[in-house]
Amino acid sequence: MRKLKMILASTTMFVSLSMQAYGQVIESKYFELDLSQWELVDSTRVLYTPTEFLSEADTYFENIVEYLGSSYINKPLKKIVIRIVPGGLGASGNFRNSIYIGVDLLNEGYSIIPHELTHALIYYDSIPSYGEGLACSIQDMFVIPEKQLWYQRGSIHGIVRVIWEHSFDLSRLQLVVDGYQDSMWSFFESQSLVQYLIDRFGIYLVLKYCDGAGYKTHYDVFGVAKEEIMSDWIEFVKKSEMEVEWMERWDSFNSYFSKANKKYYLAP
Ligand SMILES: [Zn+2]
Repeated sequence: MRKLKMILASTTMFVSLSMQAYGQVIESKYFELDLSQWELVDSTRVLYTPTEFLSEADTYFENIVEYLGSSYINKPLKKIVIRIVPGGLGASGNFRNSIYIGVDLLNEGYSIIPHELTHALIYYDSIPSYGEGLACSIQDMFVIPEKQLWYQRGSIHGIVRVIWEHSFDLSRLQLVVDGYQDSMWSFFESQSLVQYLIDRFGIYLVLKYCDGAGYKTHYDVFGVAKEEIMSDWIEFVKKSEMEVEWMERWDSFNSYFSKANKKYYLAP
């Protein structure tokens, strides 16, 4: 197949264009994107080009891989395919080598690549609360506040503190510590737990625990029993300051997430 190579991006980012049967595909160092999907994007609101979008994704990739270290990640053997799909948060996801981005998020100016990329690099489907908690933590660490999802801005522990004012459920927290999630609230609690573990034990041990896929105990990896970790974490969160926006807008946040809470909610 004839390949038209054009160097579009500046500095170290090279993007090539290739004509393929399913449309025009652009590639960056780590990603590829079918340009026909970019037509879903509202060009009056999204002011950057697909090339700039992929360059930003490359930067996330390099920074996140460097942060996670090489011990536990599955570095993709081929480029990760970004697929832009109709819909918002619920449309986003990761499957094998593809990252799905709901176009509403792009149109609102949000970036969810670090979250989905983390799943692509390192997914633990036998202990989803740790997989999601890690993806949410990485998203929080690497995305500037202006591109961060509206509900994730601020301190995650402060957000969870507000949730617990209204809905403190020990059995739900037990599930999270054991590796499971049963509602959208579990996403926030999972992130809080994983962020707490990273701050206390470091990212390497957290990844080592996750790599045990639920077969290694907390004590084996962290040297602290699960029950103690759970009570320490709860105590820590209870001392955090509540996020003001969550306090003030509780009713609207609650009704938004209660809809998602009806059944196990896979997104984000
Ligand atoms: Zn996720």
